[in-house]
Amino acid sequence: MATKKIAVFPGSFDPITLGHVDIIKRALPLFDEIIVAIGTNASKKSMWTLEERKEKLSKAFSDQAKVSVADYSGLTANFCKKSKAQYILRGLRNTTDFAYEQTIAQANEKVNGVDSVFLICSPEFSHISSSIVRDIARHDGDYSSLTP
Ligand code: ADP
Repeated sequence: MATKKIAVFPGSFDPITLGHVDIIKRALPLFDEIIVAIGTNASKKSMWTLEERKEKLSKAFSDQAKVSVADYSGLTANFCKKSKAQYILRGLRNTTDFAYEQTIAQANEKVNGVDSVFLICSPEFSHISSSIVRDIARHDGDYSSLTP
């Protein structure tokens, strides 16, 4: 039997946006399993709690048998090993995302043998980020068109 292709889609997901949903849906034909993994970091304060973020993610993908939701602390590459995932999935919006991702992806491949797969975001979602949603939420704005 061929080895299952498993990808981890790591992020803060504070909160999940339509941009994240777009990347995951488009990656479904590429993998047998996608683990959406919330990276937790004691020094990074989130607006939504881990439980809230997990619940939003689970709801968004409740109809996708290939997608599961998890959380982890520490190195993404270590979580991939533990989960038997050979790939890290990431979305790219612009050259700033690319510059940030490049060295991390190169290090993950060289040091841990985990390869990264990037999808360029769909143009209608390139303006969406979790930080924009948090800004709007902080000022009691309506962010419903940016999140699932
Ligand atoms: P991080 O804190 O690791 O950047 P995020 O939750 O912000 O976590 O993002 C997780 C992944 O989703 C990253 O690869 C990011 O580039 C991607 N992403 C975020 N917003 C969008 C978007 N609008 N379109 C496509 N990809 C996106």
